[in-house]
Amino acid sequence: MWQKLLRESSFFMVLLRYDRDLAAQARAGRCPHCGAAVHFARYLRKPRGAPTGVPPDYDLRDSFCCSREGCRKRLLPPSLRFFARRVYLGPVFVLVSAMVNGITEKRAMALRELVGVSRRTLERWRKWWRELFPRSEFWRAARGRFALAPAPSCLPASLVERFGEPGSGGCALAALKFLLPLSGGPRCPMEG
Ligand SMILES: [Zn+2]
Repeated sequence: MWQKLLRESSFFMVLLRYDRDLAAQARAGRCPHCGAAVHFARYLRKPRGAPTGVPPDYDLRDSFCCSREGCRKRLLPPSLRFFARRVYLGPVFVLVSAMVNGITEKRAMALRELVGVSRRTLERWRKWWRELFPRSEFWRAARGRFALAPAPSCLPASLVERFGEPGSGGCALAALKFLLPLSGGPRCPMEG
């Protein structure tokens, strides 16, 4: 269902444009811990799962470091391309997870072919979506926005399909925007 979009470099480039805006906002802000100015740094993530056709600098993640001696906290701005510190790109993590309901041998092989993901990684993602995500502070606060909460046993497919036609760029973009607080920022639960 999401196979086509996951190979469209134009979709991935749209996410990059949003990320540049998000980074510019973070750059203009202050350290969320102490209020000092932040310094800008970029580092190479080497994320996996990108389609062919994205430029080499696609892999650069914007990062900030507090300028105050004694604080020096690192800050990852929210991102549509990266999901916290995951090795795979955010859209791959979210959309591939939405495609996997039961992980059959055949499906695992097809997904390995598509984005290079192993069956073990798929199992780990599934566990995150079914066990950790439903217990997260973010989800407990955010699920109230839905009149009828997405079925926990079908996450994240049950969530993603609330944002539009499954398989479409608009649906994927809206779902990734919804999940932005988990991707980075001061309240990112996976921030180191
Ligand atoms: Zn600071």
